[in-house]
Amino acid sequence: MLKLPLLEEQLTMLKLPMMRDSYMRIEQVTSEKIKYLADLASLEVEQRHQNGINDRLVGAKFPTTKTFDTYDFSMQPDLPKLKLLEHADSAFVGNARNVVLYGPPGTGKTHCLIALGVAACVQGYRTRFITAAGLLGMLMDAKREGGLSKKLRMFDRYHLLLIDELGYIPFEREATDLLFQIISERYESKSIAITTNLPFEEWNQVFPTAMAATAVIDRLVHHGSVFEFKGQSHRLRTRSGTAKRMSKT
Ligand code: ADP
Ligand code: MG
Repeated sequence: MLKLPLLEEQLTMLKLPMMRDSYMRIEQVTSEKIKYLADLASLEVEQRHQNGINDRLVGAKFPTTKTFDTYDFSMQPDLPKLKLLEHADSAFVGNARNVVLYGPPGTGKTHCLIALGVAACVQGYRTRFITAAGLLGMLMDAKREGGLSKKLRMFDRYHLLLIDELGYIPFEREATDLLFQIISERYESKSIAITTNLPFEEWNQVFPTAMAATAVIDRLVHHGSVFEFKGQSHRLRTRSGTAKRMSKT
């Protein structure tokens, strides 16, 4: 009689213990019947896995979908391609490490941030994308309404927090305190990946005190990987390419 250990595992995963413990006891059970049940269980496991990925992708609130497949690394010859692509296995999330994508606008930092996030969702990590301004606005609102700790707990649910555009806007002191808090609380327990155009020497313009800036740099940089993007904006490049093509016509 065929008895599939895989089927038992799958029924356990599907939280169907009664079926798992009873399927052999059904009268006149045949190999075909068990195979049929195993095929059904496989379909259900695969579907739930796919649903989980879809739920995490929706929950991440990406502004658009980007992957490394569509990123042209030849435009960033100084970027360590293999090292960045290694991060697509999301081991850094499992190890609660961080990623900083630094460089001028239009060089693909947000593209790569989303690509890291999409990979993490596929690999089972709860992920959330948000701009620094959006995050601080949300935390400030929550604080005003007395719901700050609830909001912080909500962010704590994510294995990976993607913060886009840190440093573009100087924030008020109260807001940067909150940013410092969220970064500190995730230290060595959950991951953060950020994009920024601001050199580290200037982070004291963003954080409340020089000490806070140093602490954030220590947490993000010394316990993570920094990737520097260089060169001209892709947006400008494509626009001037379009302009050149148009001027030829
Ligand atoms: P940044 O966040 O550095 O300002 P973005 O990631 O928003 O830049 O890039 C601007 C646009 O250009 C996006 O649509 C992005 O997909 C595209 N882009 C930038 N660099 C590249 C690249 N090397 N290969 C493919 N697309 C790119
Ligand atoms: Mg960007």
